[in-house]
Amino acid sequence: GVAECIPSFKAADAVIELAPTRKPKPDLTNLAFGSVFTDHMLTIEWTSAGGWQAPQICPFNNLSMHPACSALHYAIQLFEGMKAYRGPGGVVQLFRPMLNMKRMLRSAQRACLPSFDEAELLECIRRLVEVDQDWVPQSDSASLYIRPTFLGTEPSLGVKRPSCALLYVILSPVGSYFSTGAKPVSLWADSKYIRAWRGGTGDCKMGGNYGASIYAQYEAVDYGCQQVLWLYGEDHQITEVGTMNLFLYWINENGEEELATPPLDGIILPGITRQSILELTRKWGVFKVSERHLTMADLQCALKENRVKEMFGSGTACVVSPVDRVLYQGENLNIPCLGDFPPLASRLLKELSDIQYGRTPSDWVFPV
Ligand code: PMP
Repeated sequence: GVAECIPSFKAADAVIELAPTRKPKPDLTNLAFGSVFTDHMLTIEWTSAGGWQAPQICPFNNLSMHPACSALHYAIQLFEGMKAYRGPGGVVQLFRPMLNMKRMLRSAQRACLPSFDEAELLECIRRLVEVDQDWVPQSDSASLYIRPTFLGTEPSLGVKRPSCALLYVILSPVGSYFSTGAKPVSLWADSKYIRAWRGGTGDCKMGGNYGASIYAQYEAVDYGCQQVLWLYGEDHQITEVGTMNLFLYWINENGEEELATPPLDGIILPGITRQSILELTRKWGVFKVSERHLTMADLQCALKENRVKEMFGSGTACVVSPVDRVLYQGENLNIPCLGDFPPLASRLLKELSDIQYGRTPSDWVFPV
């Protein structure tokens, strides 16, 4: 029979136009995240009438947009965040990139943007990274951040499914997350602002989720904390931290040693790092690993009874980031944080970054 075929662009059709000159590479120490970009970008256009056009790898440049562009007016927009790492012998590789492609496709469906074949997009990204491979830092802690972006480019003000769209990918070298030393983070937990709600878009990587969070982030800073601990519901469920998933390593209410993270119930971004931590620790089999609801009351009670071992965020930026304090209802909850980087967070940081940087062989990496 005829294989079912998703209408998609094909990496084999990609047209490559190389930049006539190359920019100098920056010094990665003290470089602000996402402020320097490589020499090339990938763009792929779509229209409802003509379908997907051939992918273009071209010199990095500004976009030109109609002022009514639906991404600008109605936030018909989404993105991804992943990295290319340089391993021993200079090899360049990605970490579980198909999971990013799948998450991007889910975000696209929610945004009424067109579908594509995830493997074709991954191959286009692989070719882009290959073209700009000199930009992948020669370092076992820095990396090349990859930002796939997808916009509705409908040139009219109607609030509707866009009939034109632009998928593009840009690359930005990033230094070591912990360049100034691994410092635990403090969190501001208040139910005043809500990141996501059931039926909303918190489980998709849409720009609107992030733009709407900045105000609360500055309030957290005003309260002397570094990031927001997003709560949900009357019972103040713990959901996520800033742009990281959250893990609590503790002795649970039944006296069991447990690594717990909130379940993917529609208000949590399904992090690739989160999934990897769950899979790794389940494979270790040394403590219970749960996706379960956790409330601030659960945390307060466990702290009183000395049952909390560690709390940390997880994400592509840092792998894991320990938490040492939560400001909640005017009270500082001090979280145990042995030596700034406690044992479980340290082990996870080491095992995951060893895989990402190719020091431990794994089928989780994808060679460029
Ligand atoms: N939660 C949010 C809200 C995020 O933006 C991110 C970063 N993508 C994460 C969690 C962590 O996801 P990942 O492990 O895929 O980077």
